[in-house]
Amino acid sequence: MKKLVLFDLDGTLLDRDESVKQFIAIQYDRLNNHLSHIPKIDYAARFIELDCHGHVWKDKVYQYLVTEFQITSITWQALLNDYETQFQFHCVPFIGLVEMLDTLKQQGYRLGMITNGRGDFQASAISGLGIQDYFDVILISEIEQVRKPEAEIFDRAMTRLGCSAQDSVFVGDNPEADIMGAKNAKLRTIWKRSQLWQTAEGADAIIDRLMEIPSILENFNSIDR
Ligand SMILES: [Mg+2]
Repeated sequence: MKKLVLFDLDGTLLDRDESVKQFIAIQYDRLNNHLSHIPKIDYAARFIELDCHGHVWKDKVYQYLVTEFQITSITWQALLNDYETQFQFHCVPFIGLVEMLDTLKQQGYRLGMITNGRGDFQASAISGLGIQDYFDVILISEIEQVRKPEAEIFDRAMTRLGCSAQDSVFVGDNPEADIMGAKNAKLRTIWKRSQLWQTAEGADAIIDRLMEIPSILENFNSIDR
């Protein structure tokens, strides 16, 4: 019987691409007195390109932007600070997020999150979504000093709640960090399909929408019975 559902954050619960799109448009407007010499569409497009779906940290991104667009009246550090403090106000959930979390809670599941990233930043994104109270455990790689796909971070989340891998399911979008990682730690896996990857080898189930999760958990439970 599955008791614990662990989730990735970016690209799984948080629609990161949409959040970044909204954030960067508003950053441009907010800092317009420093950026008005750049067409808004160019500033946003270059940010999104350099960010590479979150794989490049924003210190590098803003250093490139400052150089390429000859931004002189504000530093890359100030732009980065704006990102670090303001991104949380532009966090867009995937459709059905709260409904799915409510459903799983009502069904008695314990919930956890394992996310690779910076401690303060990921914590502020989680509170930006307003979902922190649903989770019994949240592990952020910078704080834990261990990252997905290492089995250690999955083991640690389960240990903190007294659950075994047999009791646990992991939901994520990254085929290597999430699906292979959780697989190696012996959890069942659900791949949240993403346009960034063709397939996720070894996933036990595939979803496009978060509200598909409750019935998949039922399936897992009937297979285990
Ligand atoms: Mg992800």
